[in-house]
Amino acid sequence: MVWYNYLMIKFLSQLLDLIYKKRCYFCRSTDSGNLMCENCFESIEFLPCKIFRNINGCQVFCASVYKDNLQKLIRGLKYHNKKELAYFQAKLMYEYWKKLTVSEKKFVIVPVPLYSKREKQRGYNHMLLVAHEFAKLAGENYIVENNLIKRIKNTKPQYKLSKAQREQNLKNAFEITKNCDKFKNKNILIFDDILTTGSTLEEMIKVFKQNGFENLYAFTTSCAKHSF
Ligand SMILES: [Zn+2]
Repeated sequence: MVWYNYLMIKFLSQLLDLIYKKRCYFCRSTDSGNLMCENCFESIEFLPCKIFRNINGCQVFCASVYKDNLQKLIRGLKYHNKKELAYFQAKLMYEYWKKLTVSEKKFVIVPVPLYSKREKQRGYNHMLLVAHEFAKLAGENYIVENNLIKRIKNTKPQYKLSKAQREQNLKNAFEITKNCDKFKNKNILIFDDILTTGSTLEEMIKVFKQNGFENLYAFTTSCAKHSF
């Protein structure tokens, strides 16, 4: 009886796979059987391979511009529960990262933290998912550390605020957790999805520096169109 049930479930799931062959979330084609087909992935253009910005001595890298398919990808992962898109976001970042000539080899990836209540509502921190997928692609020199810095203030969404309001909004928003000594000499690589004014990174960098961290880098998947 157990075997019968097992075979029945297997048969039904194969039948469902056949009927609902995975469609590309972007162009709806079923050709690749992936949530993002190759054409749609390759439609995303990289920015030139160089330091995008320098924020208080921290080199900031940015892979692409927040528009078209990349905008849909980021929004799909962040707001529409398409967790599988984390892999494609990480892949895009990794393809860009490989082309850069960064002198350091080992990094501790720190995804920008969400406020605990917001993370609970969403069910996950999207950048933590991306960080894990990135580390899988990049190999053993990259580790993910999610508990080094916390967001202790429920900040307002930033997109409607001016630069001055953003700074005020983010003031004292982050706190380093107590046991961070073993990470102080490591290369910290902050991960975020969209760079606009850079206020979030600026605030995080400030807090890291106040706590004795010196080797700070940041890498964002995209930048807003008007940010460069
Ligand atoms: Zn497609």
